Amino acid sequence: MKVIILMGAPGSGKGSNAKILEKRLNIPQLSTGDILREEVDKKTNLGVQITKIINEGKLVSDNVMVDLIENRIKEEDCKYGFILDGFPRTLSQADQLDKLFAKNGINDYIVVELVVNEDIIIKRVLGRYTCAKCGAIYNEYFSKPKVNNVCDICGGDTFAKRSDDNEQIIVNRISIYNKNTLPVLKYYKDRNKYHTINGLLDKQAICEEIAGLLK
Ligand code: AMP
Repeated sequence: MKVIILMGAPGSGKGSNAKILEKRLNIPQLSTGDILREEVDKKTNLGVQITKIINEGKLVSDNVMVDLIENRIKEEDCKYGFILDGFPRTLSQADQLDKLFAKNGINDYIVVELVVNEDIIIKRVLGRYTCAKCGAIYNEYFSKPKVNNVCDICGGDTFAKRSDDNEQIIVNRISIYNKNTLPVLKYYKDRNKYHTINGLLDKQAICEEIAGLLK
């Protein structure tokens, strides 16, 4: 069972690297942000309740998040492992995840923090956009598609920007990260699960380094 918890501030590259790792290790990326945005797009009951929270860069409640992850990791594709991207984000989520792991017989996992300094983070978030068809992530400053306005992966020509990737909200998201999520890193350091990787390295190098940490 390969279980990876990818941590890092907004814009540190969790999503892009998780997508590469997913293919390399053949285990699914469980991005709580993507799951929640899907609920918002589909206007489900949950989606309607959380739209404002997400648009303001605030955190969705711990109980909602834990239920969501509990249901997701029970699915068939998680049988051999999974990559958590964006969860846990609070100490209570980390604690409840620990209990969930124990309940499901998962005793081995690694936590990897992608470290990137704040100037770059802000540029990454403000420049970020995705292919509307396949979700591939691009950046107008750092990584545009090879052919202008054509997705490298699926050939799609429609792109989308996240509503919370703007200058005003990113400051809020970083401060919420510092307040609520930094203590989670300490939680994992205390349990000897924590590893750190320079998030500015090439994506393939990051992926190999993470793969090498798995026993
Ligand atoms: P992300 O795509 O990981 O940046 O997440 C986008 C937004 O979804 C966050 O700003 C939160 O509003 C919400 N969200 C994602 N994961 C969590 C989580 N583990 N706990 C609470 N809220 C979350």
